[in-house]
Amino acid sequence: MSTSSTIQALFNGLTPRLRLLAVPIGLLLLAHLSIDWLSALPPAWYPLLDTAPMLAALLATGLAAAMHQGRLAFAGITLAMGALAVLEAISLAHSPFVSAALFSAYTLLLPLNLTLFCLLRERGLYNVHGVTRLGWIGLQLAAVVLVVHGERTDWLLWISQPFLPALLQLPGMTDAAVVAFAAALVIQLGLALRRLEILDATLFTATVCALLTAMRVGFPAAPETYLAAGGLILAMGLVLHTHQIAYRDDLTRLPARRALNQKLDSLGRRYTLAMLDVDHFKQFNDRHGHDVGDQVLRLVAGQLRRVGGGGKPYRYGGEEFTIVFSGRDREQVMDHLEAVRENIADYRMKLRAADRPNRKKAGKARRGRDARGRDSVSVTISIGVASANEALTTPEAVLKAADQALYRAKKAGRNRVAT
Ligand code: GH3
Ligand code: MG
Ligand code: MG
Repeated sequence: MSTSSTIQALFNGLTPRLRLLAVPIGLLLLAHLSIDWLSALPPAWYPLLDTAPMLAALLATGLAAAMHQGRLAFAGITLAMGALAVLEAISLAHSPFVSAALFSAYTLLLPLNLTLFCLLRERGLYNVHGVTRLGWIGLQLAAVVLVVHGERTDWLLWISQPFLPALLQLPGMTDAAVVAFAAALVIQLGLALRRLEILDATLFTATVCALLTAMRVGFPAAPETYLAAGGLILAMGLVLHTHQIAYRDDLTRLPARRALNQKLDSLGRRYTLAMLDVDHFKQFNDRHGHDVGDQVLRLVAGQLRRVGGGGKPYRYGGEEFTIVFSGRDREQVMDHLEAVRENIADYRMKLRAADRPNRKKAGKARRGRDARGRDSVSVTISIGVASANEALTTPEAVLKAADQALYRAKKAGRNRVAT
């Protein structure tokens, strides 16, 4: 196996949750490892290092604005402002009071804002929501200016009061800042792991960068590197998110048709394709409603994801799916496909109260009750299988043969695998 395919295999072997964090955390690690090297650069490089955080944050903001991603655009703006504040604070160009005020503003407001933009719904940028969110950022800016220019030492002392046990305190940071970062990281990581969205993982990692910046202010090149990494991670997240939108099906979260076409083009000489289709799904929708239909498609997708034999499932379209077995013959995959078919046929899906169909309209055939008396539904699927051989040399031909086999499975009574 070549190095790149080994890396690919390792990456694919990770759980979806680890995979989600692999790229942003990997970038952060790379930045962390390059600090020693960056701090040893000759002085001619300092201006570049000093401007890198701002450039990276503006790159993320610009990309997000171009893609109408309001949450990330505002995260980018607050990161840029945070970078400005913290680098000014540690520049020794100001009085101790101004430095402390700017540093406090950074450690309190940046985690707060990154969490807020993680929590808020995406509502675009060029509309009233965008203006409101921009106003919120302006308000914070005004508050910081007020404290700094008004020399409000009393405010600064008040937010700097210690209240945590010594064990939980971080050197150089106020207790309020420690709480702000801890809460931010817990909320963002929780959201990322629950929603499995790359943008959440991105915001979480950027917040880690912001925390490392605050913890390493005295180290040469460290704050600049972590801040720049934060901006680059946001930008990278946007690119990955866009890729995901293009290649992943929104309903089932399986890779979509575009991804399948690309996969088909990359196959070698030996492979097997399976076409799967939910049986009598139109009837099922009519009987239970489209919402339940959608839920069933998610359930089917969940079962397909667990297929063995190295199969990779895709949503072909509608209630049709494709499984690609790269490097496998038909005989090697039949048992795995039978297992998938059986698992789906055996699965009883509980209906949530809101999904409960109108009883008068509800048919009897496919409905049952589980042990606890809740309504449950089930579906079956039919599968057609074909492998590449002397007669079927292109993926298009194999796919067509699999589709014809699927048609035979339907004709033969459905809920079966045909070749
Ligand atoms: P057969 O056993 O022959 O496959 O019968 P069928 O009713 O499944 O076949 P047909 O292709 O006529 O119907 C497919 C139906 O799938 C049509 C549509 O109502 C439903 N469908 C397609 N995409 C979706 C979707 O995204 N969500 C829901 N709820 N239903 C969908
Ligand atoms: Mg169909
Ligand atoms: Mg069907």
